[in-house]
Amino acid sequence: MAGVIEGAAVGAAALGLLGGGLAYASAWPTSQIFGRTLIAGSELSQVALTFDDGPNDAATPQLLEVLARYGVRATFFAMGSYARMRPDIVRAVVDAGHLLGNHTMTHPKLSMERAGRVRQELADCNAVLEDITGVAVHYFRPPFGARRPVVLRIAREIGLTPVMWNVTGYDWNPIGADRILDKLEAGITRCRLQRRGSNLLLHDGSHRGMGAARMDTVRAVGRLLQLHRGPEGRGTRFVGVDAWG
Ligand SMILES: [Zn+2]
Repeated sequence: MAGVIEGAAVGAAALGLLGGGLAYASAWPTSQIFGRTLIAGSELSQVALTFDDGPNDAATPQLLEVLARYGVRATFFAMGSYARMRPDIVRAVVDAGHLLGNHTMTHPKLSMERAGRVRQELADCNAVLEDITGVAVHYFRPPFGARRPVVLRIAREIGLTPVMWNVTGYDWNPIGADRILDKLEAGITRCRLQRRGSNLLLHDGSHRGMGAARMDTVRAVGRLLQLHRGPEGRGTRFVGVDAWG
């Protein structure tokens, strides 16, 4: 009997490990276990600035100013519900030449949702963004980085390439511009050592509400661009994620 109990305990432990591994695979940004996602190319001089959870009237216009000052193109993964509230900002993003992507209507954790809801969130966000700008949307970033094979399949069915990241700015925490910049610099250095481009996750808004304080992100981006586009240069080329596929 003891042997049976022991076997059951080992089985449960193994299942626990398996469950942990799958949770890890569905949320870890560079994991490809649940299907291929776009992250970065092999050209290590290339850096993509990506901004999620906008448009945000408290940060997106200021961010556009900083990017324009350095002539840098970035990628904005906008929420459809916010885009409806501030279509003027969405138009300004596209008019400035930036790449606009889909970040769902309402920011649900798609790995927990039924297929019908996933499809609705993606299709509705596309419709809102395309209605505002007249430009087709081809890229999608899953909220919280959460994905399952069905999420990636539905995204591809409606013509969206799922995009993850390989450098995290941790700017959803109030850590200040200096620490955000440190995280970005360390990440870019790590990617270059791995002979890869850098895809930087940042936020111009918050899924918790319009008007989120994101000026630390704007300041960190300003300093990053000063470092990489200033006299020293560092050979960095800022690109939209469409440079990679
Ligand atoms: Zn988000």
